[in-house]
Amino acid sequence: MNHLLWFRNDLRTIDNTSLTEAVKSGANVIAVYCFDPRHYKQTAFGFNKTGKFRAQFLLETVENLQKNLEKLNITLLIYQETPETVIPKLLKEHKISRVFLQKEWTAEERLVSETLKKNTDASVKWQECYDQFLFHPTEIPFDDFSVIPKVFTDFRKKCEKQCQILQPLKAPAPLRKSSLLTIQTKIPTFTDLGLQSFERDPRSAFPFKSGEHAGWERMENYIWKTQNLKEYKHTRNGLVGTEYSSKFSAWLANGSISARSIYWEVKKFEQEVTKNQDTYWMIFELIWRDFFKYISLKHGDAIFKIGGILEKEYQWKAEADKKEDWIHGKTKYDFVNANMIEIALTGWMSNRGRQNVASFWAKEMEQDWRIGASYFESLLIDYDVHSNWGNWMYNAGVGNDPRDRKFNIEKQANDYDPNQEFIGLWLKN
Ligand code: FAD
Repeated sequence: MNHLLWFRNDLRTIDNTSLTEAVKSGANVIAVYCFDPRHYKQTAFGFNKTGKFRAQFLLETVENLQKNLEKLNITLLIYQETPETVIPKLLKEHKISRVFLQKEWTAEERLVSETLKKNTDASVKWQECYDQFLFHPTEIPFDDFSVIPKVFTDFRKKCEKQCQILQPLKAPAPLRKSSLLTIQTKIPTFTDLGLQSFERDPRSAFPFKSGEHAGWERMENYIWKTQNLKEYKHTRNGLVGTEYSSKFSAWLANGSISARSIYWEVKKFEQEVTKNQDTYWMIFELIWRDFFKYISLKHGDAIFKIGGILEKEYQWKAEADKKEDWIHGKTKYDFVNANMIEIALTGWMSNRGRQNVASFWAKEMEQDWRIGASYFESLLIDYDVHSNWGNWMYNAGVGNDPRDRKFNIEKQANDYDPNQEFIGLWLKN
């Protein structure tokens, strides 16, 4: 009996429900990952859907996953083809009766799995699970997704009060050695993906290696070795360096670590070292991440529409020269410019920076916010469909901000970069 484990944004062996279930089934398990060529094309807004920074992070992550699965005697087959091409062939060749996968619901991802299910033998079982949440959908105190609150605080308070967070699953014990396949596939290179290799900018606030192993190393460092977690609430609005915030987002985005694993590591730290506002705030921020996932579950494709989930009818502009100025850091604000140069050169921008450049683009320049969201999608190492589009809607006034705030950029620069250390780093070097 053969089962297939189809990896998408759950590229880990620890706390992976599909992997655990597949191994438990007692079948031979074959795993597959597809570098989908559609992910390396241009979007409707003219940007590469996956730019070089995230592509590099992903390549290394998949490589690490392949090694970790090999230790479990599971072969990870890697293709540079669409799942619709690869998976039906695998199902036939290996007489696969069940496919395990993480459930995705955004339009493009859903279309892929639905097409696949439609075009494969009805005897094949598709076992999907939600595995990207802190609060599992079966645990949340809402009858269905349509009643998820509009306002974050309402969502958070109810979940905090009524929701249990599941304990992370350990990596399963290895299968029999004979389960390994003899076929070999090749991981694509940068050039295969149509991208140019690059040198990492030494100023990057995100100089980390990728993959599950590196994600756990980062947790070990941030939480335990430096104990920076102890001061997180006070440093989280920083702009310079690796330590002002956890940087967990990139591993969370492709699923090489789970939100539950981070949660329980924070809880352990609270028990063994200290519990304070700062340790709580890390969990608070992870709840924001869940919130945007639930908002996208509730509203479906509306998160990609110009009117957002509020169906606002603003007069958005799309001026090419304004876009060039914004992207190349040539606006009237040094603070916006420094942030835009940082993301262009590194694929990283702090949360404070993201809020400011988004508010500037959408609220001050009144430019189509989706251009900004699409640019971020291309560049961000930690791009996550729900967090990116959800935060962009929020900052553009078409989402979940009940106060519909516009940032005073000069005040923000004075408050968060009083000595111009950040501006100096990106504009004067
Ligand atoms: P920390 O401050 O250490 O927070 C810990 C974790 O909490 C993060 O890793 C993240 O998972 C979660 N988190 C923190 N803030 C937010 C938030 N506002 N929304 C959702 N989750 C949050 N985050 C992404 O992961 N992917 C994106 O594509 C993304 N796009 C964004 C676009 C805009 C316009 C804005 C304003 C924010 C965006 N964010 C996105 C949210 C946030 O900026 C990043 O999660 C955060 O900066 C990542 O750094 P960190 O891991 O050091 O965060």
